[in-house]
Amino acid sequence: MHRRSFLAGAGALWLPAMARAQAPLAEQPFGLGVASGHPSPTGIVLWTRLMATDPSATLAGAIPVQWMVAEDEALQKVVRSGEATADARWAHSLHVEVEGLRPKRPYWYRFTVQGKTSPIGRTCTAPDPREHVPALRFALASCQQYEQGYFSALRHMAAEELTAVLFVGDYIYDISWGRELVRHHGTGRPTMLFEFRDRYALYKSDRDLQAAHAAHPWIVTWDDHEVTDDYTSDISPADPDPARFLAQRAAAYQAFWEHMPLPNAMQPSGASLRLYDRYRFGDLAELHVLDDRQYRSHHACRAMLARRKLLTGCDERNDPARTMLGAEQEMWLADGMKRASARWNVVAQQTLMAEVDRGRDGQHSYWADGWDGYPAARRLLLDAVAASPVRNTLVLGGDVHSFWAADLERDRAVLATEFVGGSITSQGPAEARVKTLLSRNPHLRYGRTGVNGYGLVTLEPGSAQVAFRTVQSVKEMNSPISTLTRFAVESGRPGVQRV
Ligand code: FE
Ligand code: CA
Repeated sequence: MHRRSFLAGAGALWLPAMARAQAPLAEQPFGLGVASGHPSPTGIVLWTRLMATDPSATLAGAIPVQWMVAEDEALQKVVRSGEATADARWAHSLHVEVEGLRPKRPYWYRFTVQGKTSPIGRTCTAPDPREHVPALRFALASCQQYEQGYFSALRHMAAEELTAVLFVGDYIYDISWGRELVRHHGTGRPTMLFEFRDRYALYKSDRDLQAAHAAHPWIVTWDDHEVTDDYTSDISPADPDPARFLAQRAAAYQAFWEHMPLPNAMQPSGASLRLYDRYRFGDLAELHVLDDRQYRSHHACRAMLARRKLLTGCDERNDPARTMLGAEQEMWLADGMKRASARWNVVAQQTLMAEVDRGRDGQHSYWADGWDGYPAARRLLLDAVAASPVRNTLVLGGDVHSFWAADLERDRAVLATEFVGGSITSQGPAEARVKTLLSRNPHLRYGRTGVNGYGLVTLEPGSAQVAFRTVQSVKEMNSPISTLTRFAVESGRPGVQRV
């Protein structure tokens, strides 16, 4: 009876993984590295996943793993330790919720299984909400297509002094595309659980990605490519059958949770995973992390959608019922904005939020998959920003594979300031295209394509500073990094300032 209900609950997606060969624990069972995330003033989530000798095989059963957290790099002053169980149900991943730590201080951690030790990771707790915090620094990253480049930017990110990494989507890619590929997925588009697990394992085998995880806590959200390109809620452009697509989404969400330093409370249930969340960093910042994929309305005027997914003269686009976040998340965000009390409100989400008219020859055209496909939902979000007692809101995003700085306006008044932190490797639009968009949309204050890297966002009580950091070339390993440009936002005066 137990076995029967287990199989019924797990569904058909589980069977191929079970049918795969089983193999013993690898000589290096921590070959995917270690990670930490979801920082609070007293706690942190520690992550790892055990690997089998054969990467295409699975481990059997439940395996006990020991963990320890210390106040020093040499792991001499251990403050917390315990044992957790890596289970086949969750691909032998571990999500250890360590509590009882002290606010705003670094910790080091390590896992041990059957006498074999993991690399040592470093992490950091958040400041106490009542504490006066003079500065915070976040890296803003997204879009790391494995085939299109090496992750040198992540290696450099590991060396930055950071409060946390904000990763805002496209951690893996479902599809292969692009110019001058430097390496290959080796498999096709994933739809089954074991295929998504293998894709994460491939990405996480990258040493530069492992270094960035081992150096800082990560706060993550997703975009489309963790499931499939341009999906909206239960519709995939690649699969017209919503029931079949929801089974794929369930597999993708499960593999995402299995490979991210997320708490057990975020464990997916079927095709649902509550990912949006709020973080507090002393008196200086409140961070609202959004999920604009799981609950959004379908693309407007779907019949009109050509390959470039541009909407021209589509009335449905302006339908006030169209949502990007879903009613529940919208209310949660409005409530959080209304109650905000830190110096800065930071909204971390997937894509460019500012309006971008992409039309030619006097026509107005908007990209269906971004916020421009959901103008009423954007308006609602900006209403929430305007209703916040906190005058300083920064919106941080990714997805568009280029760097942007924009004034976020409602009725021509600048309400917030937006930065998009480029892409780690994914190739961006043509330079001429970006130039045209800049000239047509004056509230877009900066746009740059053809370079890859991340944003560095430094918050202080009087201002925010943003630096765009770019590597020389993603086609070379160990490519050097430099600062492309810098911006500032003054406290109490939303809008991009060049420095
Ligand atoms: Fe992307
Ligand atoms: Ca995307």
